[in-house]
Amino acid sequence: MNADLHCHSVISDGTLTPEALAERAKANGVELWALTDHDEVGGQDRALAAARAQGLPYLTGTEISVTFAHQTVHIVGLGFDPHNSALVAGLRRTRGGRSERAQEMSDGLAKVGIKNAYEGALHYVGNPELISRTHFARHLVETGVCSDTSEVFRKYLTEGKPGYVPHRWARLQEAVQWITEAGGIAVIAHPARYGFTPNEEYALFSEFKAHGGRGVEVITGSHSSQEAVRYAETALEFDLVASRGSDFHSPEESRIDLGTLPLLPGQLTPVWDLLADRIQ
Ligand code: AMP
Ligand code: MN
Ligand code: MN
Ligand code: MN
Repeated sequence: MNADLHCHSVISDGTLTPEALAERAKANGVELWALTDHDEVGGQDRALAAARAQGLPYLTGTEISVTFAHQTVHIVGLGFDPHNSALVAGLRRTRGGRSERAQEMSDGLAKVGIKNAYEGALHYVGNPELISRTHFARHLVETGVCSDTSEVFRKYLTEGKPGYVPHRWARLQEAVQWITEAGGIAVIAHPARYGFTPNEEYALFSEFKAHGGRGVEVITGSHSSQEAVRYAETALEFDLVASRGSDFHSPEESRIDLGTLPLLPGQLTPVWDLLADRIQ
């Protein structure tokens, strides 16, 4: 099935509205869609209404920022009740501190001669509670400091670089519990993106399972084909269901469009098999 269960709208760091994403997903042949804004469910009602208008089956979604072993890990939640009060409060807490962090990022950039980056980044923000590194990256590209967003991340926004500010996000256990207690399934997003040692990665997968996590992204816009093969094996080893999602953010920036990834390998159980009664 052409399921695309990972993408971002203007409610977080995407450039399209939930309505435009629903239309694009439908046009690209997506058969099951989820909008997974970072640390936010504020776009879920709009996404569901837009999916209905397109005749596109929909699962609720979010992508929660977690700190694990001193690194940021993303946990995707699918098929939960978006109005669950513990989930909504937990996500609000996770978003808290983004503005202060952004001010500190701006201070760091000012030290290397890039002035007023906070104000510049704000021009790209659709949700005042969700200023992210992506918005800074867009501002630095627009003002000619770098030629594309990946260059901005490489030179300014990753660990050790002038605009990088370490941040404490949610705990793994909290994120998994918010999702599962709201009736959804927790999924480890793009596992190949983390710089973990084999021991740390083993700890991530084992602790995730122990807390009630059930799935892992195998086919994602962030994985090479070799990485997909590797995490298909990890899914089987840890008895996790598999998810598939482009992680689409923007027609200008994203390499992989909605609905254009290879299908899940046949030997894996798709996450949507566990969510049949949650599809809206
Ligand atoms: P934040 O939550 O503010 O730390 O921002 C994280 C977001 O930055 C991710 O969700 C991606 O959209 C984006 N991002 C992270 N690393 C890169 C990169 N190397 N190139 C482009 N975008 C990136
Ligand atoms: Mn993002
Ligand atoms: Mn992510
Ligand atoms: Mn994402």
